[in-house]
Amino acid sequence: MSVIIKEKISKRVRTPPLSLPLSRGRTPTVVQNGNGKKELGPPSKPYHLAHANAQEKTVIDVRGLSVGGAQVVIMAGPCSVESEEQIMTIARAVKEAGATVLRGGAYKPRTGPYDFQGLGKKGLQLLQKAARATGLKTITEIMDPRDVDLIQEYADIFQIGARNMQNYTLLREVGRTTHPVLLKRGMHSTYKEFLLAAEYMLAGGNPHVMLCERGIRTHVTELRFTLDLNAVPYLKAETHLPVIVDPSHGTGRRDLVPAMSRAAVAAGADGLLLECHPDPDKSISDADQAISIESFNQMMREINTIAGAIGRTVAA
Ligand code: PEP
Ligand code: MN
Repeated sequence: MSVIIKEKISKRVRTPPLSLPLSRGRTPTVVQNGNGKKELGPPSKPYHLAHANAQEKTVIDVRGLSVGGAQVVIMAGPCSVESEEQIMTIARAVKEAGATVLRGGAYKPRTGPYDFQGLGKKGLQLLQKAARATGLKTITEIMDPRDVDLIQEYADIFQIGARNMQNYTLLREVGRTTHPVLLKRGMHSTYKEFLLAAEYMLAGGNPHVMLCERGIRTHVTELRFTLDLNAVPYLKAETHLPVIVDPSHGTGRRDLVPAMSRAAVAAGADGLLLECHPDPDKSISDADQAISIESFNQMMREINTIAGAIGRTVAA
């Protein structure tokens, strides 16, 4: 192959690295806060923009709902949007119990190709309809970079799933928007890998990134995953990004979800992402970890008490 052709090919296939905005992340930043001036140290980690020294705490505005501020945000709903009746029923119930964000997958990352893959665009439409009827904000998973425009139109928060935490094409594409995004920790990922994945979106120009601990694979085979609550105080100290916990995937068992939800809030989580279903055993996906409306109500009362004990409230 001639040198010219080789060069042409390599130019076409090469993706340029993202560059760090010159004004941010390289030098110590001086930030004005309520009490006067506070000097922040120089970033010493490869995740310059995600590092705690880069800026003051990030508080994300999701159409009027703050994530990462004083209030704990509860996001709840089914693993998958299954039908209009299902999503409407659960939306009304979680709203009534005090949740502010409705979750529901329309594009599902299923282990097997023959499993239910989600309702797709129809699922997005039903999610939006349920949110409009109740005043809830919405979160739904994005798996394909080509769906950015579509999902942005229907949902308030992109969810990037554990299996896609290192899908750099997806991270870059979501990083080109300024739409709020919840990034789940990969089930085998270190904190550094997690923060570098967040860095892709920050460097791409999207500052509205929240992190979500959802459990990792360990030698404990009795449960689906091991919810790593160390991640909460670690990430809260290491970054300025909001930290959310998903005790549903983190345990895989509905009877363990309330205790780990309470523990997550006590550990300082800025929010919870929970799977809840009007008829948990009939859930098309993740039935074992779906909690009932009754259990969600009880849990919300406890969460309010725990939040109060650490000087926080639950966002209403
Ligand atoms: C989900 O939230 O339903 C999901 C698939 O989560 P995770 O990516 O954490 O497995
Ligand atoms: Mn699920």
